[in-house]
Amino acid sequence: MLAPLILRKNTERRLRQGHLWVYSNEVDTSRSPLNQFEPGQNVEIQQSNGRFLGTAYINPHSLICARLISRDPQYVLDGSLIKHRLNIALSLRERLFEHPSYRLIYGESDNLPGLVVDRFNDVLAVQIGTAGMEQHKDTIVNVLAQLLKPRAIVLRNDSKVREQEGLETYTSVAFGELNEPVYLEENGCRFMVPVLEGQKTGWFYDHRMNRLRAAHYARGLRVLDIFSYIGGWGVQAAAAGAQEVLCLDSSERALGWLKENATLNHVEDRVSTLTGNAFDTLKQLREQNEKFDLVISDPPAFIKRRKDQKAGEQAYYQINQAALQVLKPDGILVSASCSLHLPSEHLLEHIHNAGRHLSRQVQVLEQGGQGPDHPIHPAIPETAYLKSVISRVLLA
Ligand code: SAH
Repeated sequence: MLAPLILRKNTERRLRQGHLWVYSNEVDTSRSPLNQFEPGQNVEIQQSNGRFLGTAYINPHSLICARLISRDPQYVLDGSLIKHRLNIALSLRERLFEHPSYRLIYGESDNLPGLVVDRFNDVLAVQIGTAGMEQHKDTIVNVLAQLLKPRAIVLRNDSKVREQEGLETYTSVAFGELNEPVYLEENGCRFMVPVLEGQKTGWFYDHRMNRLRAAHYARGLRVLDIFSYIGGWGVQAAAAGAQEVLCLDSSERALGWLKENATLNHVEDRVSTLTGNAFDTLKQLREQNEKFDLVISDPPAFIKRRKDQKAGEQAYYQINQAALQVLKPDGILVSASCSLHLPSEHLLEHIHNAGRHLSRQVQVLEQGGQGPDHPIHPAIPETAYLKSVISRVLLA
């Protein structure tokens, strides 16, 4: 018998509509005091009249204090359920992609709340974001090792969200060895991925389709890739036939890896790098009267939390304005955002307003979101965060 987690009256609606989260202020703590639970413990969620809503795992210390695992009372989070759901997730990716390079598990959307796994051929990068999943760390590693026979499994458990769950942050090689470089394939290009030292898991698979669409415009053009990281957009644009690509990032290390990736794709003669703060460097480029035919801006999340909303919105406006200032008339702007809290209409508005301020007319050609290896859970808005807008920019 699982310990019951009893909800307060009239708080069950979100769960019944398909959401997976219980917030701590929704729990009837007089009937099910939170301090009786261990982080990661499996519980049974009941609405206040005792009706069964689902099994879940709990973290009594977190604002999101429980995440639903199953609406069938016989299933709880354990090795066999993890294995089953991994197989279901894998079957989707195998249908989608020719190469084993993709996000294999995308948390809540793959019914494994708190777990992210990226696959780079024979190396897996795992991110565990909750105390409940952390309890099953060894099982997850064992199941992945059995199922996929990887060369190595890396735990990239160094994200800030873990602090809210009371978890330590660390990176480790949990299985196998990692003494050879790690590679992935995307849109016909090959990339070396810094799985241990790069951003997040080392790569951002979410923009796969948007990078392909952007590269479609790049033939023969002079391209600027702002916030380039290790070359996801820029190297693919060069491989698609761009005449010249300048990649700009504040991280010298990222740009070092980017150069390796340019070489790997035989475009090193057309790809150059510039280290610096994007806002300052764009100002310098403008002052030097440098102009590009295609400018890509895919920044880190400027709005990480609600309290950053105002400053973050301003930053999106400013970066788009700065991008437009180095764009030739009739140029193409690719503007992306990974901020959950920036609605796509706001991104469009910032591009449009920045254009108006510079007497430019913006024609939106294409809009994109995250690729199908980042499925969206329709009841959980948090699972849909990515935006990409491709526009042509004319003199008004
Ligand atoms: N566009 C990349 C992902 C960007 S990740 C891709 O598709 O792979 C964010 C990148 O922005 C990181 O490489 C980080 O080093 C860089 N960065 C963060 N703040 C910056 C700033 N103010 N100026 C320039 N680069 C910045």
